[in-house]
Amino acid sequence: MKRLVKNAVKCLKCAETIESLSTYHFVSCRCGAVSIDGGLTYSRILGNREDFEDHRRWLIPNSDQHQIISLKEPTLLLNTLKFKSRS
Ligand SMILES: [Zn+2]
Repeated sequence: MKRLVKNAVKCLKCAETIESLSTYHFVSCRCGAVSIDGGLTYSRILGNREDFEDHRRWLIPNSDQHQIISLKEPTLLLNTLKFKSRS
């Protein structure tokens, strides 16, 4: 089971990178186009897919590398991606 180790996105409109640090930490970029929350418990990104760059990082079991997994749109949009915090 992959585990989220960084929950962040970069807004392409205002170039601000925002990161949610805890479950109820809801953050918006300064222009308001993109928001993120969920911390490392789950990842929820609000906004148009073309307005942000995915900066999330996932730790893949059986691998020493942190890999960025890009999720296929449009399932990402307005979806709550839930996963177990323990592998
Ligand atoms: Zn923005």
